[in-house]
Amino acid sequence: MLLVTLDTTRADRLGCYGFGLAGTDAIDQLAAEGVRASRALASAPVTAPSHASMLTGLHPPAHGVRDNGVHRLADEVETLPEVLGRAGYATAAFVSAAVLQRRYNLSQGFETYDDDLWSEDAPAMFFIRERPGARTVDRAVAWLEEWGEESERPPFFAWVHLFDAHQPHTPEPRDRLLAPTPYDAELRGVDRQVGRLRAALEALGVLEDTIVIVTADHGESLGEHGERTHAVFVYESTIRVPLIVRYPRGLGAPRVYDPPIRHVDLAPTLYAMLGVEGGPVTQGRDLSEALAGRTPGPALEAYSESLVSQIGFGMAPLHALRDPRYTYIRAPRRELYDRASDPGEVTDLAASEAVRADALDAALEALLTESLALAPEASEAPLDDETLEQLRALGYVGDAATSAALAGMDPKDGLVIHENVQRVRELIRNGRCERAAPLLDEVLAATPTNLTALSLSALCLDRRGLHEEARATYLRALELAPAEPRLHLALALSELGGGASDQIDDAERHLRAALEASPDFVEAWVALGLVSVARGDMDGAEPSFARALAIDPDFPRGIAAAADLSFRRGDFAAALAGYRRALEVRPDAFEVLNQAAAAARRLGEREAALGYLDRAETVRPDSFIPPYNRACLFALEGDRAAALAALQVAVERGMPSPADILADPDLRAFAADPDFLRLAAMAPRSEER
Ligand SMILES: [Zn+2]
Repeated sequence: MLLVTLDTTRADRLGCYGFGLAGTDAIDQLAAEGVRASRALASAPVTAPSHASMLTGLHPPAHGVRDNGVHRLADEVETLPEVLGRAGYATAAFVSAAVLQRRYNLSQGFETYDDDLWSEDAPAMFFIRERPGARTVDRAVAWLEEWGEESERPPFFAWVHLFDAHQPHTPEPRDRLLAPTPYDAELRGVDRQVGRLRAALEALGVLEDTIVIVTADHGESLGEHGERTHAVFVYESTIRVPLIVRYPRGLGAPRVYDPPIRHVDLAPTLYAMLGVEGGPVTQGRDLSEALAGRTPGPALEAYSESLVSQIGFGMAPLHALRDPRYTYIRAPRRELYDRASDPGEVTDLAASEAVRADALDAALEALLTESLALAPEASEAPLDDETLEQLRALGYVGDAATSAALAGMDPKDGLVIHENVQRVRELIRNGRCERAAPLLDEVLAATPTNLTALSLSALCLDRRGLHEEARATYLRALELAPAEPRLHLALALSELGGGASDQIDDAERHLRAALEASPDFVEAWVALGLVSVARGDMDGAEPSFARALAIDPDFPRGIAAAADLSFRRGDFAAALAGYRRALEVRPDAFEVLNQAAAAARRLGEREAALGYLDRAETVRPDSFIPPYNRACLFALEGDRAAALAALQVAVERGMPSPADILADPDLRAFAADPDFLRLAAMAPRSEER
């Protein structure tokens, strides 16, 4: 079985769903040969919750993953790969975005979980780290080919997630020329990757034996209802998704399936199609007979939610229930739409059809109650009392009146706030923190409990060097969300940057709080190790780095931090091995290249050291650091001419602080050399490094 999830893909932008300008031939072909669900519905317009529903057959309140980056899927929830793995399937996943990395535990049950995103270029600020679909599919195809070479091939379940249609849109030029918008151009590229997966199955001779499912985690608003992208609202533009199941052997002749089908129905339907017994309780329905045309499809009600406004912005959550004709949205100002006459969901009937709205609200309430009864223990642990007391002592006791007022704010009314926050992000990305500040004040005046605005505000203050104000703002945010691990980490890093011993103590407290809430938070483990390093406690640092690397062996900062620790301890062989490993993941890491050179030099590996410095210089040709390190190496070898020449280059590139040059023990041999002293005197005195 092959499950392909296309991030951010609206059904109505694919050719097989009627979009005339689409270039989605591969997907269209799968649809033409399989069952195309004309009305498939996602559980949430947010990547992690939506995928968690596909893999578990549970609504988000039942599986507990309500937002990206916040919740970890509980171990006790049973997933498709766990059940299929027990049934003897080989299981593998290939994901393309950081919000699906293994720390969120959607990886549970997969033998192979390829979330290696660290070797990709760092994303622009506030964008999600991602891997281009072509590279994800390279890995998936390689895995399939390896599977194909096994002598007794077990059945397989592979999940491939392609993120390209998500913002930012950077399509290939050939697609841009042919598509009406950059978004559609990205879909052309995604479609090509779907075609490659199909070709791989054909080449292995197993296409007809394979259930191929193509769907999307959510759509994209493209400006409908005033929303530019997705995540806040739960209208059709983001909840209606494509769903194609190609398996002629089991489903018979190609057809269009018109009754509603929900992502929670996938797991029970697939268990039935695969003949796998002992699947867990789900909230979905086995639609295998209906998809095969042997029974009529039931008129199911579909639940969807978004808690993004609540978790990120302090507003009300949105819950939707769709019956085959009406859409009901529970909100401070509830909404009801008759999609038969109003497919765009623009004419609100909640007031004129209050009885119908009441009935749907009651059904929604029953579904929420059922879901919460199935929910595992919350995956977020509260902070200890001491920390809460500390926050209260600082005067950040929650203002109940404000919170209550804001908790009632309808996300529909909050659109201008979302737009302003988006503008703030763009300003910060462009280094304009001063200009972001008044806009943030405006947002916070309207929504004082807006966690996103508070943390952006703290970030701006930190960047402007206003550390006390930044700290106070982080604490204000933590008063609202005492367990939010990212806030704890951000505050800890700010404190660690200060370097005073009480700040280091404070940093440790917040890192421990972050890890209590989120035990697999690798960034926090690395920062905790750096706390020990800052205290000179090298032995104390080691287990923290080891823990980070046990969770994510490819985390580049973790690998480099562990290597730095070996370097500090004088174990240059271990340090160099670590730097080499870090460079496998990120070959162009400038600091790591210089550190690798330093370790190699101390091991007497002269040529290797010079090689790393050459590579570092290629990455940053304007930097004084590689030539300076070269000068040190030549000086230690006693090569006066080469050392002076390299030092001259370093000085010309703005090597600051002659005092540092004179004090460097590596250059001691030249302490009295007049040419050397003349060069050192040329170095600018007070430039930033
Ligand atoms: Zn998504």
